[in-house]
Amino acid sequence: MSTNQSKIWLSSPHMGGGEQKYVQDAFDTNWVAPLGPNVNGFENDLQQYLGGGFHVAALSSGTAALHLALILLGIGTDDEVICQSMTFSATANPIAYLGARPIFIDSEPDTWNMSPYFLEQAINDRIAKGKKPKAIIPVHLYGMPANMKEILHIAENYDIPVLEDAAEALGSRIGTWHCGTFGHMACLSFNGNKIITTSGGGALVAKKKQHVDKAVFLATQARDPAPHYEHSDIGYNYRMSNIVAGIGRGQMEVLDDHIQNRRTNFGFYKQAFSGIPEISFTEELGDTFSNRWLSAIQVQSRDGVTPESIRLALEAENIESRPVWKPMHLQPVFKGEPFYGDGTSEKLFENGLCLPSGSNLGIEDLERVVAVVKTCFEQ
Ligand SMILES: *Cc1c(COP(=O)(O)O)cnc(C)c1O
Repeated sequence: MSTNQSKIWLSSPHMGGGEQKYVQDAFDTNWVAPLGPNVNGFENDLQQYLGGGFHVAALSSGTAALHLALILLGIGTDDEVICQSMTFSATANPIAYLGARPIFIDSEPDTWNMSPYFLEQAINDRIAKGKKPKAIIPVHLYGMPANMKEILHIAENYDIPVLEDAAEALGSRIGTWHCGTFGHMACLSFNGNKIITTSGGGALVAKKKQHVDKAVFLATQARDPAPHYEHSDIGYNYRMSNIVAGIGRGQMEVLDDHIQNRRTNFGFYKQAFSGIPEISFTEELGDTFSNRWLSAIQVQSRDGVTPESIRLALEAENIESRPVWKPMHLQPVFKGEPFYGDGTSEKLFENGLCLPSGSNLGIEDLERVVAVVKTCFEQ
């Protein structure tokens, strides 16, 4: 009965219509290069969106932005970098690129993000063991802002720079402050499934202009000023292309609509599942505002109904859902790296499920999802 139902994706690209105009401009002027007016335009759009005083470099990916940010913070071999454990591997991989060591921190139950309590415990323990961590990377998972007030307070006390992973949180805020503007630097991502996409891309956000200037320098092969190719630094090929940036400019025109749609999805699920006590959601605490990139639920398993049984039931109806991020301290590749916590992220992983959340979903799509989930609990 399910086979003729169209596929509902977890989070698929959603073009606004204006993208092709900017891409066409790039073709018309033959700006088919990793530089050009769309790159500058996209950076300006992002800068304005985030509010005054921040600088932006458009790059080839969010991962590249994290990598360059760690280089700019002077991270090198055998340094220690504190990192939220519950996240996508791209948060932690750049630490390994530099030969540094990730120190993983558990989640707090409210936001699912870095626990300030275990952050401070980890800093004290690493210092006692003889090494002060060189940076702290909190993540705003699924668009929910991390507890930045406490994290920044601790970071300031110990004088450790903060690098925000805001890859999932463009448009999320605490009060009037955007995610991506709290730390010394931050990364954004425009990968295919993010809240806006350029097909692939990312950005570095920094408080200091010199950080962004240096990032652009390193991202374009670190060429010293000279007519020939002269190099005093190791360079990277990490700049965003002018074609890709054209898509980004079009996407910026619909970003707020996308956020509205994703919040509507979340509200729909929350209302629809209000009669199922086994399902719970994260709440926006205080003056936090989440872009609700993905609608993630916690499921208290009962009578064989588990997040996995729900996922399989959805799959049978041609609906894509996905477990939440598996914490990094449980990943084979990071086995043996230090971890500070009490099992919160493990439980969140065990009980978590991400439901279809695209900004292009219609009410009938959401109703299909809800019907399948409800049926699971009725048996
Ligand atoms: C997507 C993502 C990244 C990486 O961004 P890319 O543009 O795919 O390299 C980093 N961190 C988190 C939390 C992400 O979700």
